[in-house]
Amino acid sequence: MRTPIVAANWKMNKTQAEAREYCRRFRELVPRDFPVELVIFPPFTALHVVREELSGTPIKWGAQNAHPEPKGAFTGEVSLPMLIEHGISYVIVGHSERRHIFGETDEFISRKVRAVLDAGLSPILCVGERLEERRSGRAWEVVEGQLSAALGVLSAEEASQVVIAYEPVWAIGTGVPARPEDAQEMATAIRGWLAERFGDVAQKVRIQYGGSVKPGNAGDFLKLPDIDGALVGGASLDPDSFFAIAEEAS
Ligand code: PEP
Repeated sequence: MRTPIVAANWKMNKTQAEAREYCRRFRELVPRDFPVELVIFPPFTALHVVREELSGTPIKWGAQNAHPEPKGAFTGEVSLPMLIEHGISYVIVGHSERRHIFGETDEFISRKVRAVLDAGLSPILCVGERLEERRSGRAWEVVEGQLSAALGVLSAEEASQVVIAYEPVWAIGTGVPARPEDAQEMATAIRGWLAERFGDVAQKVRIQYGGSVKPGNAGDFLKLPDIDGALVGGASLDPDSFFAIAEEAS
């Protein structure tokens, strides 16, 4: 039985004051025995606030990005040892905005996955095709390439620590989610790929769907047999809306 995991990617949103207000409301909503793992990904600048407000609750937090090197001349970057000081549990790796706006390559993403695991944390690895790739029937080819590059060299034990977020690029922030049957088809293919490489571990790895998830459609994805949660951007910025999505997973 896989514990569902629902995550809030705030992206470049929320000042410290806004983060504090959000966390105070959100922790009121979440019962202690809530059966879904909840993870908030604030911007780096609000991590300490989120930690202050959510410590002692069942809600976890993580980083939206991290550099694979522990320190050095990488202006503007933040390392895993720095983030660990903020009590994080997860790091988002390979988000489509990092791939397509900031030009992160499969090779760089695989170094990040390795560094996150070596730091004793879990990566949420984002994979997904662009619209023209889906239209030309290449969606699986693209996703398989991303999986092979990022996870191909891991051991089965390491792979079991990874969460995979299937996020079709054309569905992110557009208000147009994937069709649930297409998300399920991709999640099944991802689990099959994991089974070929890592055997039984494939049954343990959690696969999220992400892309325009909101309270009105979350249940359509979260009830699917190979979807174990959601990665939510826009609709996670309001604590009540994010909790409504999480309730669909419970
Ligand atoms: C995301 O940023 O990972 C995401 C899925 O965004 P949205 O929910 O806004 O589509």
